[in-house]
Amino acid sequence: MKKKILVTGGAGFLGSHLCERLLNDGNEVICLDNFFTGNKRNILHLQENPYFEVIRHDIIMPFFIEVDEIFNLACPASPIHYQFNPIKTIKTSVAGSINMLGLAKRIKARILQASTSEVYGDPQVHPQTEDYWGHVNPIGSRACYDEGKRCAEALFVNYKNQNNVKIKIARIFNTYGPRMDPHDGRVVSNFITQALAGEDMTIYGQGKQSRSFCYVDDMIEGLIRLMNTDDSFTGPVNLGNPNEMSMLELAEIIRELSGSGSGISYMDLPEDDPLQRQPDISLAKKELQWEPQTPLKTGLEKTIHYFRELIASQ
Ligand code: NAD
Ligand code: UDP
Repeated sequence: MKKKILVTGGAGFLGSHLCERLLNDGNEVICLDNFFTGNKRNILHLQENPYFEVIRHDIIMPFFIEVDEIFNLACPASPIHYQFNPIKTIKTSVAGSINMLGLAKRIKARILQASTSEVYGDPQVHPQTEDYWGHVNPIGSRACYDEGKRCAEALFVNYKNQNNVKIKIARIFNTYGPRMDPHDGRVVSNFITQALAGEDMTIYGQGKQSRSFCYVDDMIEGLIRLMNTDDSFTGPVNLGNPNEMSMLELAEIIRELSGSGSGISYMDLPEDDPLQRQPDISLAKKELQWEPQTPLKTGLEKTIHYFRELIASQ
């Protein structure tokens, strides 16, 4: 059955892939975005589809529409972008979530929140399971994002408990792929653009900190499966690829895959940068029958190809 689906942050990296997949599945999609970090180029190829609609709107302002489902992805996601205007970042997670939850309540729509592994902060439990409460500095430079997302989770749970809103919470771990913003400072996009330009790859700290990277198509599959679970399953559920590696290892792999002769330069580690991060995805395997399918090498090759073409077109 064709559903009418609202995707906030639909012009961003994950949002544009989600809009595309939902349209391919035969749904009608309304993409709502304020274009702070989103980009029209990400959704240009969808514009000819008569079931796709784009609305420029900021979710910190109320929004009225009738839909069956809401994916709430609107929020800058990379440190340099979410730290650009920290108060706005908090407002987007908190006031924005209240607006979207109020909408879901009125129209009785299902609503999914794009939460984050950052709710675990610099974790003292490894790998991270959903029952871990996290280790977040509430006044540090990442707090506007981490605490905003934590507050959003609290809002979602309470809208469910008080108002029976049908909620789903996905805790998304580091995701990469085509349409990442080359200027957003995230490690995968930085390393690839540096490798392709033959510039030094910038390692923050000693590069021993770890992350686990999930390819975008796998992440989108996980989000859709979560949205389609029974009302009784709300999450939070970790979505990510447990394949953990250090930033030094990642630099080495990207250098090799892109055939680059780049060197490495070491820079200061940003404040509160988590030392390690790896999702425990047992719950997603059990409840969504989901686990990532794309090997790192395959995903990185597709991403490198995307950046090559992007650079050539500029
Ligand atoms: P992105 O920056 O590419 O996309 C976010 C989109 O939201 C952009 O199009 C931006 O313009 C829009 N937006 C921001 N503030 C808005 C507002 N107030 N009103 C309307 N639109 C607004 O980031 P992304 O990587 O696609 O992330 C999407 C979501 O997934 C975010 O909520 C992010 O926190 C979450 N997430 C992403 C990752 C990841 O690795 N990419 C990891 C964890 C969580
Ligand atoms: N990082 C790095 N070099 C870069 C960009 C990032 O070494 O050019 C490190 C960063 O310090 C962090 C990791 O890579 O430890 C992942 O950073 P990213 O911003 O991609 O994601 P997050 O820290 O939000 O998980």
